[in-house]
Amino acid sequence: MRAFVLTAPGEASVQEVPAPVAVPGEVVVDVERVGVCGTDIEFFTGEMTYLHEGHSAYPMRLGHEWAGTVSAVGDGVDRSWLGRRVMGDTMLGDRTCRACRRGAQHVCAHRQEVGIRGGRPGALAEQLAVPAWSLHALPDAVDAVLGALVEPGGNALRAAQAAGVGPGDRALVLGPGTIGLLAAMFLRAAGAEVHVMGLGAESLAFARSLGFPHAWTEATLPDEPFDAVVDASNAVHLPALALDVVQPAGRVVYIGIAGEPSTIDTRTLLLKDVTAVGVLSASPALDDTIAAYAGGAVDPRPLVAATVGLDRVGAVLAGERIEGAGPGPKTHVDPRGA
Ligand SMILES: [Zn+2]
Repeated sequence: MRAFVLTAPGEASVQEVPAPVAVPGEVVVDVERVGVCGTDIEFFTGEMTYLHEGHSAYPMRLGHEWAGTVSAVGDGVDRSWLGRRVMGDTMLGDRTCRACRRGAQHVCAHRQEVGIRGGRPGALAEQLAVPAWSLHALPDAVDAVLGALVEPGGNALRAAQAAGVGPGDRALVLGPGTIGLLAAMFLRAAGAEVHVMGLGAESLAFARSLGFPHAWTEATLPDEPFDAVVDASNAVHLPALALDVVQPAGRVVYIGIAGEPSTIDTRTLLLKDVTAVGVLSASPALDDTIAAYAGGAVDPRPLVAATVGLDRVGAVLAGERIEGAGPGPKTHVDPRGA
């Protein structure tokens, strides 16, 4: 089968590789859609922390936002998975350690991450093998495009839940990339008035086109009370700004990550009685995300700017503009397409 293989920073190709087999407890999925995300770009540039911590090494097979159909099951797997449309959890805990037993397998110290960590091949390929326990079935209303948006959506939904806002509340999202815009959509679905702060006129215009008229730059951000602030940016100074602009007794959520340490003043945190929450991974919110997409509470489809074949993934990771691409922040891959 064909797979996208990253062999060194900036060095990648589509290669013919052995098709995966369904070992006991696992399934093989025919991949239909894969999202390319910022983590993939960091592996392409070589900046990703896991490379330097020894959790990941080239050659790598990327791809962790995916949807497809189960085409083979290994021993011990319920055969009713065959032919089911699914997406899967990126985080594969060892299911034996204390964190896993306490329901937090997404922070298992021994975890693999599909297409990211521990040598587990990712979904930028015609087929993918994953444990059956990591699968989430997709209802008919969630097609492959939406299915490949469940993983980023789960991250954003956890951020929105952590913000704890509802009707009558005002929330601010810093960084209108994929996660920021998805978080804005979930916050809006919860009933909050949502503001967005970004850098460029283009991304702010796109946010407005999604129905977020309160779209600001740092210079134009109004002096209004924000009950919650979600930092989904990669700017080193914005975690502190989030804390500065949130209302007393409000909540700040950190889901963005900068390339170097960000600092916040804990005196501000406690003197304002602020609750701060960090979010890693979508795992606990995957089913709620699928339900939100299926019921139409959130429609992330406009975020997809273009869909390309495996042969164009290298260009996407290198930041080349895809001809005819829309204004959204997300590129999708159809591994069986041209
Ligand atoms: Zn574990």
